[in-house]
Amino acid sequence: MRRFVYCKVVLTTSLVWVLVDVFLLLYFSECNKCDNKKDHSLLPALRAVMSRTHVAPGEMGKAVVIPKDEQEKMKELFKINQFNLMASDMIALNRSLPDVRLDGCKTKTYPDDLPNTSIVIVFHNEAWSTLLRTIHSILLVDDASERDFLKKKLEHHVATLEVPMRILRMEQRSGLIRARLRGAAATRGQVITFLDAHCECTVGWLEPLLARIKEDRRAVVCPIIDVISDETFEYMAGSDMTYGGFNWKLNFRWYPVPQREMDRRKGDRTLPVRTPTMAGGLFSIDRTYFEEIGTYDSGMDIWGGENLEMSFRIWQCGGSLEIVTCSHVGHVFRKATPYSFPGGTGQVINKNNRRLAEVWMDEFKDFFYIISPGVVRVDYGDVSSRKALRESLKCKPFSWYLENIYPDSQIPRRYYSLGEVFSYTADKEIRTDDLCLDASRLNGPVVMLKCHHMKGNQMFEYDAERLTLLHVNSNQCLDMPSEEDKMVPTLRDCSGRRSQQWILRNMTLSV
Ligand code: UDP
Ligand code: MN
Repeated sequence: MRRFVYCKVVLTTSLVWVLVDVFLLLYFSECNKCDNKKDHSLLPALRAVMSRTHVAPGEMGKAVVIPKDEQEKMKELFKINQFNLMASDMIALNRSLPDVRLDGCKTKTYPDDLPNTSIVIVFHNEAWSTLLRTIHSILLVDDASERDFLKKKLEHHVATLEVPMRILRMEQRSGLIRARLRGAAATRGQVITFLDAHCECTVGWLEPLLARIKEDRRAVVCPIIDVISDETFEYMAGSDMTYGGFNWKLNFRWYPVPQREMDRRKGDRTLPVRTPTMAGGLFSIDRTYFEEIGTYDSGMDIWGGENLEMSFRIWQCGGSLEIVTCSHVGHVFRKATPYSFPGGTGQVINKNNRRLAEVWMDEFKDFFYIISPGVVRVDYGDVSSRKALRESLKCKPFSWYLENIYPDSQIPRRYYSLGEVFSYTADKEIRTDDLCLDASRLNGPVVMLKCHHMKGNQMFEYDAERLTLLHVNSNQCLDMPSEEDKMVPTLRDCSGRRSQQWILRNMTLSV
């Protein structure tokens, strides 16, 4: 079954096809386990499995089941890419997928003169079948016409098309950030669309992205990222009710779209969601705006942090970052990374995170530093040119971003104290990340529970003279643990004892 991606990217007088410039970046690197060295004795067995089923494996995004006697081999192959390569290789390069869009999206129409886009896919030791499926799912174009010759005849024609595609090769392993920069520099489209090398695009994915950029060139737009199972390659629709955030460790996280954002859209779920951060793998951006806003931080290595860096930068410097809920693209989410990180995974990610914290987060970088001790010893190189960029673009402070774009952040916007372990927030919570000190009974121990922001059991009043932390609900003071408390601090009647005195570091009296 052939799947068309309907996208009027470039329209000439009658109607058109190809349009997408596809750039592939390939790293030259040591490759012990590359897919081209794959065990081809497997193919007859796979074909046998396929012929036993009436429909080809994985059609309509269905899960692929590997027969029992192939499972050992399957596990072996899994290690190469950290996904089920055997399943992937069984699926057609242009398999069909369900139309997972909201009903309201299926009837939307878009202007004829949408900007065109170049698509940049960077990859490092990607599997043949996932890479090819990515390309196949973006290549075919336009439809929406009733003329006969645009049906069968066009299908046949398109089947023989050579898509304009260039492969750029990095001289050495450079990481996804610098590889994308190389790709971006070679684009000619009005828009640049970045995709990972293991994606599958669904019907109508591109028009809503391009249409939003046409409306506002400073909108940087992401599709909903659907989940392609790393185990079975089943295609599962992602939710339009989650958006991007991050925690104190600067890990990207999905969170529920808050009520304020639903209200802003007057409950219309087909409208773009303003998201505080993006996952980073899949997005479209106006090409000249990409330049203007400072592309990527080329001082970042391999992988990690670049998505938050870009998210903060876009918001703080006057753009907007949105999830276009009418656009769906699938991505194979992996539990582990299949490739090496020269220099060590932790080192690389900490360095990248320090670069973004130092340039964009102002005093709030301390939240990251206190929860990740040791990170301050990581050398992050020279960020002066990124700071100069921030200066020249007259970007807003991080506090503005927290206040206006991400008020539901785990990082308290206002706090009295920031110590090695906890912060004492303006809501009088004692808090680390999204956990708060909570006491629910008299003379009871305290526990860490998810912050509920309702004060109650999680409110402690600090007395800067007596140095006590009064648990207001119980009218008891936080006391040092004794032997029988198993080292957990406990509530006791306030006595003024030394064991009830707490020193909050970096205390400010007003917030
Ligand atoms: N990638 C790359 N060079 C690297 C690391 C990653 O080109 O050094 C590519 C990788 O092949 C993929 C994209 O960057 O197309 C994102 O990486 P990955 O899929 O591992 O990240 P994830 O989706 O797990 O966040
Ligand atoms: Mn990926």
